[in-house]
Amino acid sequence: MSNKNINQIKSEQLGMSHSTAQYRLRKSIMFMLIEKLDINKCHRCGKSMTKDNYSIEHIENWLHSDNPSDLFFDLDNISFSHHKCNVSASRRPLVEPVTMIDRKGEKHEQSKLKENDVLRIRELLIEGRSLRSIAKEYGVHHSLIGKIKSNKIWKHI
Ligand SMILES: [Zn+2]
Repeated sequence: MSNKNINQIKSEQLGMSHSTAQYRLRKSIMFMLIEKLDINKCHRCGKSMTKDNYSIEHIENWLHSDNPSDLFFDLDNISFSHHKCNVSASRRPLVEPVTMIDRKGEKHEQSKLKENDVLRIRELLIEGRSLRSIAKEYGVHHSLIGKIKSNKIWKHI
């Protein structure tokens, strides 16, 4: 009877730790689904990705946000990007977090909203529509609508 535990045996047979192997397997499965769903496009650069260079990215940085665990698990806040594109984005200084704060207007390539949209969103807010229902209509995260409401972004319009 060997005195190795089951995890050591699994690691030996897989050539890596069991948790690493499970992570890799999940990533492969997810990439297969990304391709099947025809959504294989980097959120940052728009080019297609491979199984080995894609990563799961939080669109809005959850770290140091007002509600980190909400933002972390919010599927609306998830996108896929090249690992390289993701890492260079997350290296931006945290003083001005990777939120929408630096997105001043239409010129920013990541910006989904046009000036007209923002003006219309302001009207909807005045009419009392909820952040979530407006966000859904425009296909953006509700926190973005919240920032328009509190004039953290697009204040030049
Ligand atoms: Zn990319």
